[in-house]
Amino acid sequence: MKVGYIGLGIMGLPCVLNLLKAGHAVTVWSRRHDSAAAALAAGASWADSPAQLAAQVEVLISNVSDTRDVEQVLLGEQGAVHGAAKGLVCVDMSTISPIGARDIAARLAEAGVDFLDCPVSGGQVGAVNGSLTIMVGGKAEALAKVRPALEAMGKTITHIGDSGAGQVAKACNQIAVGVGVAAVAEVMKLAKACGVDPAPVREALLGGFAQSRVLDIHGQRMIDDNYAPGFKAHLHLKDMGIVLDTARQLGIRLPEAERVAGLIGQLVEQGEGELDSAAIARLIWQQN
Ligand code: NAP
Repeated sequence: MKVGYIGLGIMGLPCVLNLLKAGHAVTVWSRRHDSAAAALAAGASWADSPAQLAAQVEVLISNVSDTRDVEQVLLGEQGAVHGAAKGLVCVDMSTISPIGARDIAARLAEAGVDFLDCPVSGGQVGAVNGSLTIMVGGKAEALAKVRPALEAMGKTITHIGDSGAGQVAKACNQIAVGVGVAAVAEVMKLAKACGVDPAPVREALLGGFAQSRVLDIHGQRMIDDNYAPGFKAHLHLKDMGIVLDTARQLGIRLPEAERVAGLIGQLVEQGEGELDSAAIARLIWQQN
C-alpha cells in the first residue's frame, strides 16, 4: 500500500521500518527534519507537510503524543485534511482521549475522510518485532482497507467498536497495567518485610494464577531496581489523565486508578518522568 507516516519516535520509527520491510511504499513527514533521518535512510520518501503527504497516500498513520498533537497534524493549518486524496483513511496509533478521537473522526468525516483510532499495546519491543496489539475503533470497511498495513506492525488486531472504542480499550489497558504494577510492588514489599527473597516469590507466582506480563517484566525491574524505560512515567501519567478525565465526564469513580495516577504524578513531580513508570515501586516501598 501507499502509506504516509507522521511521528517517528520510539514507537513510530520501528513501525515505519516494518512497513518498508513488508514491501509498502512509505512517505513520511516530521516536525523536526532530523527525526526522519533513519526512516529516509531505510528507503522512505519525504513530504513537505501533512497535507502534501495526505495527497499521495491511501493510508496516513499518525503516532504522535497527545490529543492536540493528533488534531494539529490531521486538522491544523497544514493538516492532512487539506490535502486528503479521495478514499484516504487516517489511522491514529497515538494514545489519546476517546472523546477526542470521536471528535476528530467526526471532523474528518465532514471532509469525506475515514478515521480509525488504533492505539497499541506491546511497547517498544512490540513495535520493533512487529507484534503490537492494535485496538481499533471506527468503521469495519475502513479497517478492511488498511489491514495489510496494520498487519506489518501488529500481531493482534481487534476491532473493538465505533470511533473512540479503540481508545477506550487502551484506557482500560492502562488501568490494568498501572494497578498491576502497584500490586507487584506490594508483593515485593510484603516478601521483603517478612525477610523473604522476592526473586523466588516472583518465580513461584509466575507459575500460578497470579501470572502476568506485569509480574514478569516489571517484577524483574523491581528486583533489579533498574527503571530504564520501557514506558516512560510521564507518558503513563498522560494516559492515567485520559482514564480519569473520561471517568469524570461519565460521573464514575475509579479509586484504584486514582491512587496509581497519584503515585505516577508524584514520580514525575520529583523529576523522574523519564524513568519507567514501574519506578512507583520505590514510592510504595517508602510508604508505611
Ligand atoms: P516519542 O518517542 O516521544 O515520539 C513522538 C513523536 O511524535 C516524535 O517523533 C515527535 O516528533 C512527534 N510529534 C509529537 N507531537 C507532534 C506534533 N504536534 N506535530 C508533529 N509531530 C509531533 O513517543 P512514543 O513513545 O513513540 O509514543 C508515541 C505514542 O504512542 C504516544 O501517544 C504514547 O503514549 C503511545 N505509546 C507509547 C508506548 C511506549 O512504550 N513508548 C507504548 C504504547 C503507546 P519530533 O521528533 O519531530 O519532535
